[in-house]
Amino acid sequence: MDDLQVRDYCVQCKKPVTDCAKHEHQIRHSVLADDVMLGIVDRLYDLGIATVMAICTFNRTGSAPDINHPGIIIQLSEQVTYEMLGELPAGWAYGWKDGKVFSLDFNDWCTYIDISEAMTRINAVVGEFEAYLDTRDAEGTRAIMLLTAD
Ligand SMILES: [Zn+2]
Repeated sequence: MDDLQVRDYCVQCKKPVTDCAKHEHQIRHSVLADDVMLGIVDRLYDLGIATVMAICTFNRTGSAPDINHPGIIIQLSEQVTYEMLGELPAGWAYGWKDGKVFSLDFNDWCTYIDISEAMTRINAVVGEFEAYLDTRDAEGTRAIMLLTAD
């Protein structure tokens, strides 16, 4: 299986940016994202949470290069001092840096030898997180973002 395709995605047009020079929207509306992450990127944007990067990782480095350890890193474009989504689903955590939420991270507790199993797992985790985001209150989350962003 090929590695995932990572590309610039515009949250305003909701499609990949093919030519930056000609693109009508500003760079701050573009996200470096894996295709599988676009549903999450769109939902976060609709909640007022802008992202700069949303990628999957399989952590194959180190002593066990054949073992896939699925993970997701979603880096926020605005750091806030408050856990704006409340309690996250199992496996997810807020990434803190200098007292502010810097990212939303998923780390699997399972490992997979077969990359396609790891990818199936990522797809399931993404689907669950999308469903979780659909339960969030957009008005309330936007208000928190406005109040607690720098
Ligand atoms: Zn655009």
